[in-house]
Amino acid sequence: MSTSAHMDDSDGRERHQMEHSKIDVEGYNEGSPTRTPLATSRAQSPYTPHPTIDFDGLSWPSRGTLQRREATEKEMEERLAKLSGAVRTILECVGEDPDREGLLNTPERYAKAMLFFTKGYEDDLRAIVNGAIFHEDHDEMVIVKDIDFFSLCEHHLVPFSGKMHIGYIPNRRVIGLSKIVRIVEMFSRRLQVQERLTKQVALGLSELLQPQGVSVVVESSHLCMVMRGVQKTGAITTTSCMLGRLRSTAKTREEFLNLISRK
Ligand SMILES: [Zn+2]
Repeated sequence: MSTSAHMDDSDGRERHQMEHSKIDVEGYNEGSPTRTPLATSRAQSPYTPHPTIDFDGLSWPSRGTLQRREATEKEMEERLAKLSGAVRTILECVGEDPDREGLLNTPERYAKAMLFFTKGYEDDLRAIVNGAIFHEDHDEMVIVKDIDFFSLCEHHLVPFSGKMHIGYIPNRRVIGLSKIVRIVEMFSRRLQVQERLTKQVALGLSELLQPQGVSVVVESSHLCMVMRGVQKTGAITTTSCMLGRLRSTAKTREEFLNLISRK
């Protein structure tokens, strides 16, 4: 009995792999009954090309991403020293004395913090998910709401943070909930604009799960708005990206929006 259960299991995995390999770059799954062109149900953008899980597995890398990810220990030290030097320059430029006691370790401290704030460049979707996609007949909406995130606005390098709400309607594939949180973490720990962050999480999930629909809503407060310029302290920016049935069916979309607004 246990043997046959085990065999069923591995058969399932094999089937899963086959299905996955059938997914073409446009986001279609030939074997899927719904054949919803999820990722293509919205306009393409040069910043969010398909497929999400690109050939080198970096998930929308930038030019320096691979170098950072593959850096040797020595190269990481050099990177840290270079970044610290740049922070020292900032201290000089704002009219400070980088050699006064309180600031002595600030350049290195900030450099390390900056590398942490952007650690999402060292992650990729494939490694994060690492097999945590399961076959389930569940086809009701799955919602994870109030996921806290912290990101850096790429225009000012100051933080924006807030909450992300994610919903999807499975198509025989579900993902471990903690993995959803890690996907949010990966894309937010990069230089971002809120619109792109929203889209990347939605497209990433859409490609991993080939679901019937995905929806991502992000509510965020931007320090670059709060601390400078317009200084609108209470302003919350909301962005959303809806794909598949969550985009095309008003009733389903409404259900999602109701569920995430319920406290
Ligand atoms: Zn900004």
